[in-house]
Amino acid sequence: MSIRLDNISKTFDKFQALSPMSLNIEDGEMIGLLGPSGSGKTTLLRIIAGLEGADSGRIQFGQRDVTNLHVRDRNVGFVFQNYALFRHMTVADNVAFGLEVMDAKQRPNKAEIQKRVQHLLDMVQLGHLAKRYPSQLSGGQKQRIALARALATKPDVLLLDEPFGALDAKVRKELRRWLRNLHDEIGFTSVFVTHDQEEALELSDRVVVMSNGHIEQVDAPAQLYAQPNSRFVFDFLGNVNVFDAAAQGSRLTHQDAWLETPHQDGKTQAGQLYIRSHELALHPAPTTQAHLPLRVIAVNPIGPEVRVELAPDGWQTEQVWEADLSHADYERHPVQRGDQVFAAPTSGYFFTADSQGSPERLHWS
Ligand code: ADP
Ligand code: MG
Repeated sequence: MSIRLDNISKTFDKFQALSPMSLNIEDGEMIGLLGPSGSGKTTLLRIIAGLEGADSGRIQFGQRDVTNLHVRDRNVGFVFQNYALFRHMTVADNVAFGLEVMDAKQRPNKAEIQKRVQHLLDMVQLGHLAKRYPSQLSGGQKQRIALARALATKPDVLLLDEPFGALDAKVRKELRRWLRNLHDEIGFTSVFVTHDQEEALELSDRVVVMSNGHIEQVDAPAQLYAQPNSRFVFDFLGNVNVFDAAAQGSRLTHQDAWLETPHQDGKTQAGQLYIRSHELALHPAPTTQAHLPLRVIAVNPIGPEVRVELAPDGWQTEQVWEADLSHADYERHPVQRGDQVFAAPTSGYFFTADSQGSPERLHWS
């Protein structure tokens, strides 16, 4: 079922939780709402559900205008972070709940309910736990039951609010892979909230990046990563070093540090160069293109790359810089805590000081 949000806004007292926003979600799409705490993700999800009314705008599910429809009549399923299973009911009764409370006209008969519950439990691979109570389940199992329960009434739309937030890292990873498979198998339309960028990028067909009650960018994960359209999206999507620079001819400068820009015309402007941690090379001496002295403050060789943390040496930034080096590169020039190194970006994204829009992609050869 497609979802169309048109000019939706929301204030609480005088606080604008959502600025007017529009969004089209396609039938069968899995959409991730990604943003820091307080950015309005849950509010937007609750408005889609009908648990909260919007101050302005319209919501359509397929051809149906649901703007003024009660949550009960929207045919949505929910999964929240805190399981919300009924403690006094068995797993099977929890899953059956939504069906049992349907009004008599729509409610399937007992045998039909039983069959459907069994099918759902098999689908979430917990058929053998039908007679258990929630307290006898692990966190991951509870969330799978919550999902089965949400799917029992065959919702048009499945809404999930930080569904894996309370689980440990390994279970989270398993469950999201499993949710993605289930989604592809059944083909429901889903919107899920997360503040975890890895989760959003891995699960979503498209990611909606939110900040301060508005949408920053909506794109497929690969596109979002390749073309972040604002400083905010950049900062939120992982490890990035910011070189805050003045312009001096063809150079970007910051105190004693400088960088020759690869522009052909030999001119540049003041602004910020965003350099991803894996697009920063480390050398024992300055290069002809870059003079960015840094002091190594930590080296972490665990994982697919070697992460080196760096403090500017003789110039200042607000943050610690990070370089992610391949093990091969690291072994060619192994650095240690306390060493002085010279960084040189291989690529970067340049925002001019006055720009509101997309950055310019720069490459150094
Ligand atoms: P998120 O899910 O992204 O963390 P929320 O949608 O929960 O953000 O909240 C967005 C903002 O709206 C927050 O500043 C929050 O305090 C405020 N807010 C949310 N719900 C209410 C409410 N019922 N009453 C007053 N303020 C609220
Ligand atoms: Mg929230």
